[in-house]
Amino acid sequence: MNKKKNQKINIKRIKRIRRIKKSIITMVLLGVVLGLMAYIPINIKKKALIARDVVASEKFKDDINVLGTFNRLREDNKSIYASDEVSIKINSEIEEILEELKNGVTDKVKELVDNLNSLLVDVSAGNHSELEQLFNKLNEDKMTGFTQEEVKKVNTLMDEYNLLIKEQKYSEAKVDLEDINTYVKEVKKIVETRITKEEYDKKSTEDEKSRKATYINGILLVNKKNGLPDSFGDAEDPKAREAFEEMKKAAGKDGLYINAFSTYRSFWTQNRLYWNYVASFGQEPTDTFSARAGFSEHQTGLGFDVGGADRSLWANQEFQYTAEAEWLKNNCYKYGFILRYPEGKEWKTGFVYESWHFRYLGEEHSKNFNNNNLTLEEYLGV
Ligand SMILES: [Zn+2]
Repeated sequence: MNKKKNQKINIKRIKRIRRIKKSIITMVLLGVVLGLMAYIPINIKKKALIARDVVASEKFKDDINVLGTFNRLREDNKSIYASDEVSIKINSEIEEILEELKNGVTDKVKELVDNLNSLLVDVSAGNHSELEQLFNKLNEDKMTGFTQEEVKKVNTLMDEYNLLIKEQKYSEAKVDLEDINTYVKEVKKIVETRITKEEYDKKSTEDEKSRKATYINGILLVNKKNGLPDSFGDAEDPKAREAFEEMKKAAGKDGLYINAFSTYRSFWTQNRLYWNYVASFGQEPTDTFSARAGFSEHQTGLGFDVGGADRSLWANQEFQYTAEAEWLKNNCYKYGFILRYPEGKEWKTGFVYESWHFRYLGEEHSKNFNNNNLTLEEYLGV
């Protein structure tokens, strides 16, 4: 009996356990379903948010690139040079971009930055080719007579230039190139002075009897490189005198008195004059204002030293400030004369500025010298 009772109780318990198991499974399944129902929409939403972030960050990257390009272009603009017209165009494009940027990095900004970019690329390319042309021209220039030190300085400047070109710093490269140009020009003048001095020393110590006068295109040339034999010339040139008298008359009409106080000088007069100066001033200073015998234009009879009413200013540096000197400078060419030793051309003529020394050339040639500081050497291409 007891055994039967126990069996009954066991069956009941098993049934209960089965019920409990069933309800647990049902609850778990229900939980899973509910979980999935909640998870799926959240996940979809999250994915959508991520996708939106990706788009936004791509746009952000794009905008940063545009701004970066714009800043780089503004920097590049400092490294180039352009005509006023182009500079104005570049600056107004930059202003326009800055204005448009107030609305953010719009499509218009992108378009404007692209335009600016192509404009600057064009200008840079133009700078590059122009500078290279100038540089090549300068490089072809022969630096004959330059000292080692002078050549070294040119090379240093050229190295600097090459570095700047490499870095695309065109405006700085241009300045450097201009420096080289100026320096080479200056040294050339020094070289010319040096060569002239050497030739002068050589030629003036040669036998004056065997020297021959130099004519270029029919024009007699006397300077430190071209002397005259001692026998050359005996008086002032009559044509030159006639022209001077006409010039004197014209000056008179303008209320100015002019006088030719020294014209023809013989080889021996010049010799005495020169050595007297040397005794007073020394040879080197004398060589800047007085010619050695056989190298004076006065021996040709074509050189006229002209002064005004004030005798104290004859052959005086102060003469250049007088009304007579001004008149002569502006009008001499009309009468066949040229100012033979112009200001700033000492390196070419070998003599200091002489506002009083005029050379008769004839109107046919003198008209080409209309107050332009041209020297006879330059006119004759020597
Ligand atoms: Zn003179």
